[in-house]
Amino acid sequence: MDELLDYDEVTTRFDPVLGMEVHVELGTTTKMFCGCPTAFGAEPNTHVCPVCLGMPGALPVVNSAAVESAIRIGLALNCTIRPWGRFARKNYFYPDMPKNYQISQYDEPIASNGYLDVPLDDGTTWRVEIERAHMEEDTGKSLHVGGATGRIHGATHSLLDFNRAGVPLVEIVTKPIEGAGERAPEVARAYVTALRELLFALGVSDVRMDQGSLRCDCNVSLKPTGATEFGTRTETKNVNSLRSVEVAVRYEMRRQGAILSDGGTIIQETRHFQEADGSTSDGRRKETAEDYRYFPEPDLTPVAPAAEWVTELKQTIPELPWLRRARIQQEWGVSDAVMRDVINAGALELILQTAAAGAPAESARSWWVAYLTQQANDRGIPLAELPISPTQVAEVIALVGARTITTAGARTAVDGVLAGRGSVADVVAAEGLAIAIDESALEQAVAEAIANNPDIVEKIRGGKTKAAGALVGQVMKAMKGKADAARVNELVLAGVDS
Ligand code: ADP
Ligand code: MG
Ligand code: ZN
Repeated sequence: MDELLDYDEVTTRFDPVLGMEVHVELGTTTKMFCGCPTAFGAEPNTHVCPVCLGMPGALPVVNSAAVESAIRIGLALNCTIRPWGRFARKNYFYPDMPKNYQISQYDEPIASNGYLDVPLDDGTTWRVEIERAHMEEDTGKSLHVGGATGRIHGATHSLLDFNRAGVPLVEIVTKPIEGAGERAPEVARAYVTALRELLFALGVSDVRMDQGSLRCDCNVSLKPTGATEFGTRTETKNVNSLRSVEVAVRYEMRRQGAILSDGGTIIQETRHFQEADGSTSDGRRKETAEDYRYFPEPDLTPVAPAAEWVTELKQTIPELPWLRRARIQQEWGVSDAVMRDVINAGALELILQTAAAGAPAESARSWWVAYLTQQANDRGIPLAELPISPTQVAEVIALVGARTITTAGARTAVDGVLAGRGSVADVVAAEGLAIAIDESALEQAVAEAIANNPDIVEKIRGGKTKAAGALVGQVMKAMKGKADAARVNELVLAGVDS
């Protein structure tokens, strides 16, 4: 067990410095340098070919969709896009990397020198500077069999699956994050959270941390409070949940704090994060860039995106997701709590699409967050998977607005669509939901109610329009409920006026 220094003491005596490395697997249909599919979860070694298996004579070709995603990521992170850059070979042995080198980018990354303004829990923003974002290929996967832990120690043999070998990756590396002090673990978590949301909004990856589409390494070092020179860092690998990022940084700060307080030194190394207890354990001594014998990849032409293309791609960069949310909340004029319900229900995009199909935002919100969320919960499926489209919900809302159907009828219509009984119009017709009004009977009922209640009419004329409720009640009774109350109210007021 590592000795850990009390967290408050760590932050009084030391300033933490962080460096975040995030690998994101791009959601392209094919791999970085060959035509093999990237789909997750296939039978081992079925998504392979001579290129991604590193066979002699097989030549790579750059996937332009991956380059496009990398450029868009760079632009979203306010980076400069390199007009001409080469891939580089990073040489090292790894059993799940058949070429014995990884094609990456070294000193000519596609994007560099950017920043991301990250929202923190207290509503303030923390600017994280981005060093670079570069393209590379993923390795395969090793499965260690026969041991208790699934780790190589104690295993009897290992299996190799090359399906992931060659899947496009973008690695995003921050500049050293300084000055966060006791908030360093929170800043680290907030950064990865924000980056993940941004990548999702860009549509470049499914950002599933549980499936390894987003993987995070946390570099942490401590220096005596006020010192300028950085301390020695450790790099905790593959921290695979947002919460773990915070836990791992905090743990490393406390572990290093204990060693430094005892007059010890930190060894530069990679460490493994232990999900079970939130600790880190020692891994390999860190190699330096020289060890990799980087050199320009001779089998690939340089990446040279035309300036016009980059300008075009810039137009596709969405508003930052959290700023967009804040803007929408303001436009709707709703409280934080209402907005939280919308987000938690996974209803934001559905509501916006429903509104885009013509429905008032408020009605759209109430349908999706209340009745439809309940229907989704009953079925145990995500809201977006309910068999009703935003357009159909907008149709139902429009019918209620036009008083063609009642609110109760609207639910029946929605239930019918959910049950697969056809379109909104089909269900309204089949269930006879349209309010059938005998216009002359309605006019007569209104006229009678007005004639029989001169005292109420007097009140209404005097400005007490609420008094009309009593007349509406009489008309509804006379119509045996076969009228729309809101419309009757209008007719009564018009009748009293004339
Ligand atoms: P490596 O190849 O060793 O992973 P990178 O340059 O890819 O190195 O990433 C190192 C990360 O650590 C970067 O985010 C960098 O800003 C950060 N970093 C560098 N020096 C320190 C330090 N002393 N303490 C904390 N983070 C550091
Ligand atoms: Mg690195
Ligand atoms: Zn292949």
